Amino acid sequence: MADTQLNLIAGNWVAGESEIENRNPSDLSDLVGMFAQATGDQLEATLDQARQAQIEWAAYGLERKQAVLNAIGTEMMARAEELGRLLCREEGKPLAEGKGEVYRAGQFFTYYAAECLRQLGENADSVRDGVEIDVRREPVGIVAVISPWNFPTATASWKIAPALCYGNAVVWKPANITPASAVALAEIIERQDIPKGLFSLVMGSGRSIGQRLVESPKVDAITFTGSVPVGKGIATAAIQNLTKVQMEMGSKNALAVMDDADLDLAATLALGGAFGGTGQKCTASSRLVVHAAVHDAFVEKVIAGAKAMKVGHALEEGTQMGPVVSAQQLQENLDYVALGVSEGAELACGGARLEMPHDGFYMSPGVFLSTTNDMRINREEMFAPLTSVIKVHSYDEALATVNDTNFGLTSGIVTQSLARATHFRRNARTGVVTVNLPTAGTDYHVPFGGRGDSSYGPREQGKSASEFYTTVKTAYISAGAPA
Ligand code: NDP
Repeated sequence: MADTQLNLIAGNWVAGESEIENRNPSDLSDLVGMFAQATGDQLEATLDQARQAQIEWAAYGLERKQAVLNAIGTEMMARAEELGRLLCREEGKPLAEGKGEVYRAGQFFTYYAAECLRQLGENADSVRDGVEIDVRREPVGIVAVISPWNFPTATASWKIAPALCYGNAVVWKPANITPASAVALAEIIERQDIPKGLFSLVMGSGRSIGQRLVESPKVDAITFTGSVPVGKGIATAAIQNLTKVQMEMGSKNALAVMDDADLDLAATLALGGAFGGTGQKCTASSRLVVHAAVHDAFVEKVIAGAKAMKVGHALEEGTQMGPVVSAQQLQENLDYVALGVSEGAELACGGARLEMPHDGFYMSPGVFLSTTNDMRINREEMFAPLTSVIKVHSYDEALATVNDTNFGLTSGIVTQSLARATHFRRNARTGVVTVNLPTAGTDYHVPFGGRGDSSYGPREQGKSASEFYTTVKTAYISAGAPA
């Protein structure tokens, strides 16, 4: 039996009253490890310690904070292969994706290391005689980070790095499905020159320790990525204590393929956007809105590409799509396939459970044809390797279809027309819009977030993160007359 991986409570690695096992979704006979579940008392203790540690950390000089973030990021980038392998083993994405995720996570830390030195305030003269005004940002205090399993290292890093950069303490509850990546990142952070208890890891289920964390009056801000229902519950809990909250939730991203599109490019973007990360991405292209003039030719390419995709063990050479993350997710995906067919969609390929030499949660990438935008498969986030084609007859109809959703995270257009690309860029109702690029795949130095049910609160990433992780103080100073 593997040693149990521990929680980081008030600066110490400690066991809990229970533990869970974590198995590889590519091969269920592979036990990734056993992971302690934090208790309510441990959570209270770590929140109390975090309060003291945050005051100490906020007083560190900027260069000292910068050095800490730089060291974390540099180590992650140097260990991207090793940590990426661990991530793939528990999450199921192919090695290139896992390695890329860890490297990108390291870049969030090095980016915010540099941001440490760019924290400038503003000053102004008062409307009153002899008074000056100084406006500066201060840390919010203790930030609760609640992260999902689909990007277990990157999502957590784009929250933890700015939280530390702007002088906050962090209490991190990762998804219980991917605890190994969380322990690996926590070990790197804990080794740095930081006050004891500044950073805590509390593993456990969302319903128990997660709920207790978001209900705690000791928490000053909550940043969450996950599903809409859980997000709504967190917002309800947060408002009881008037805790600041930021949430990134579901999506139903569309890629519009116009009659003047380069169809090889369009098919490549659609396949990568729909099936990268086994479709388990908030930026996935789950609706393909296709002009009737190129529908048949485009669809032929997409179906051929989906059928040719090599599904397999995440760590095996040549695997293009790994398993889905869990038995529950697999069942939900298969239920959506049945739902789509019952709604009248044509399942052109895939969407079936696959038997493999290893016992895992494998399914084939599925493409629905003859769908309409009002079907549930086109309205609900499936988080599955499934995509739907919706045929339209004009650019205007394409734009209206893209915008006809409760969500609003990303959207893309494939066209050679500058006029259409420009109009789309300005009129698509999403937080991120792409032109001749996948709907998935974003940079780390610019804002990320959506509209509608996709996001709530200030944007994440880039300089925009300071909006959430800081609070503004306006100081009035009367110097008096010189003696
Ligand atoms: P959840 O929203 O259930 O979980 C996200 C995180 O929130 C996890 O760490 C989870 O803990 C935690 N959590 C769950 N309940 C609570 C609670 N009451 N209080 C505090 N924290 C809580 O998403 P899932 O991971 O279960 O995925 C379900 C669906 O959510 C997906 O199919 C997809 O549609 C969507 N999703 C969207 C993501 C995105 O990037 N937009 C990311 C992930 C999911 P734990 O899991 O350990 O119980």
